[in-house]
Amino acid sequence: MPLFLLLVSISVVLISGGALWQSWQHELQENERLVKNQSLALSRQAQDTFLQVQITLQEIARNADDIFSSPGHYAGTQGLLARQKALLPQLNGLFVFDANGISVANSAPGPLPAYSNGDRDYFSWHRRHDNQQMHIGHVIRSRSNNEPVIPVSLRLDDAEGHFRGVALGTVRVDYFRQYYDYFEIGEHDVLGLTHRDATMLYVRPFADRLTNHSMAHTPLYQKLLKVSPTGSGTWRSPIDGITRIFGYAMVPHYPLVAAVGIDRDALRKAWLRTNLGIICLNLLMLMLVMLFGLLLLRQLRLMLENQAELLRARDELTYANHRLQDLALIDSLTGLANRRQFDIYLEQCIERAATTGVPMSLIMCDIDYFKRYNDTRGHVAGDACLRRIADILKSLAQRNGDVVARYGGEEFAFVLPATDASAALALAQRILAAVRAAALPHASTELAEKIVTLSIGVSTFSIGSNADSLVHDADQALYAAKRNGRNQIVTRSPTVAAQR
Ligand code: GH3
Ligand code: MG
Ligand code: MG
Repeated sequence: MPLFLLLVSISVVLISGGALWQSWQHELQENERLVKNQSLALSRQAQDTFLQVQITLQEIARNADDIFSSPGHYAGTQGLLARQKALLPQLNGLFVFDANGISVANSAPGPLPAYSNGDRDYFSWHRRHDNQQMHIGHVIRSRSNNEPVIPVSLRLDDAEGHFRGVALGTVRVDYFRQYYDYFEIGEHDVLGLTHRDATMLYVRPFADRLTNHSMAHTPLYQKLLKVSPTGSGTWRSPIDGITRIFGYAMVPHYPLVAAVGIDRDALRKAWLRTNLGIICLNLLMLMLVMLFGLLLLRQLRLMLENQAELLRARDELTYANHRLQDLALIDSLTGLANRRQFDIYLEQCIERAATTGVPMSLIMCDIDYFKRYNDTRGHVAGDACLRRIADILKSLAQRNGDVVARYGGEEFAFVLPATDASAALALAQRILAAVRAAALPHASTELAEKIVTLSIGVSTFSIGSNADSLVHDADQALYAAKRNGRNQIVTRSPTVAAQR
């Protein structure tokens, strides 16, 4: 029963725990899907943003000859570059530099700056790379208005293919901030755009703090991007120590990666709040099962105890009954069958002899001069003598069915089923001899030998006998033995003579 209770409790825990675990796993999968989709949306927005800039820069590259020969058309507030810039809200400015990094034209109002931009990374990159690939750089501060921007640039070549300068568009980081602010996110959730070389460009909510910070040591760059251009994963942020579920997507055609991360602990808390009812219900169910089981166990134990008590009482009663029965049939002084048992058994044996025709016999013994024994040695010694004689007689009644009884006082009787007169006489002789051999001293006997002796009367069943007649015959024989001088046997069987 305790094992069964344990099994039921474990089952309840396993089933409800399993269901809750599955629900949590489902929640995680759903959220992984969500962050993946969100990162795809960010990636698409970045792609659109940079594509528009790329088209504009390519347009400028196509018109490079014109720009270098008559830059007045392109520069200034009414110039082509300013008009192009006005069409694209993500742009902070459009610039054309000559081979030394000096401004040829730009979208900013006022005179062209005299300083060189030849020291900028994008500039030296284009000088080194002889191709038309668009370059996206890390975040820099605009030299014209100090705003953080992402430089996007194209190399310009002359007719001979020599480096002529750079067309530059600066994309406002704030443009991404504005877009990312549309999303409703949790306190510790993050949205970010990073360079393919693992440099952060913009991350909500950290913004400036993480600008140009390297993410190269995160699983995103260590593992995930090497395997798939989009996907998800969970890791602990080295920046704030918060574990997040991340979704990421590479921006098609550009060296950029968009990523979205949600705080796993906050998600777990929200999930727990939603499932609190079910969890409480499961705990309650478990408690009820255990309570019910314990009550059942207690009831069972009580029942078993009651049953054991009943069995004990029954055994005691049975024992008492046996004792009573024994007491009713056994002589307490000698342990032999008592008179009651003698009467019952004699009736049974006579009945059997009458129906089967197999003879049975009765031997009656009486201690000689026993009154005197008592008178001279006292009753206690008399009782002890009775017990000694009883023991001797008991040892002689060895055949199955033979019963020795204390007939009364100092008289004993043998009931001998299936025993004819001669066999009975033989036993009587053994009895007489055994008592003599015991040589129990009896100083006051009239007999010559001063020992305890018996007088014995034997009667055997014949047709028409009954218990009374058989006892009467044996009694008569016994008195005859007394009359003849005691310490001898008299039989009532016509064929067997009396013996001394
Ligand atoms: P007899 O040889 O003619 O049989 O003489 P007796 O003295 O043996 O016979 P009697 O019938 O005169 O006396 C029997 C005596 O047995 C009387 C009594 O003192 C004694 N007796 C009977 N029952 C008990 C008993 O349970 N314990 C003791 N100690 N003595 C008993
Ligand atoms: Mg007597
Ligand atoms: Mg006697």
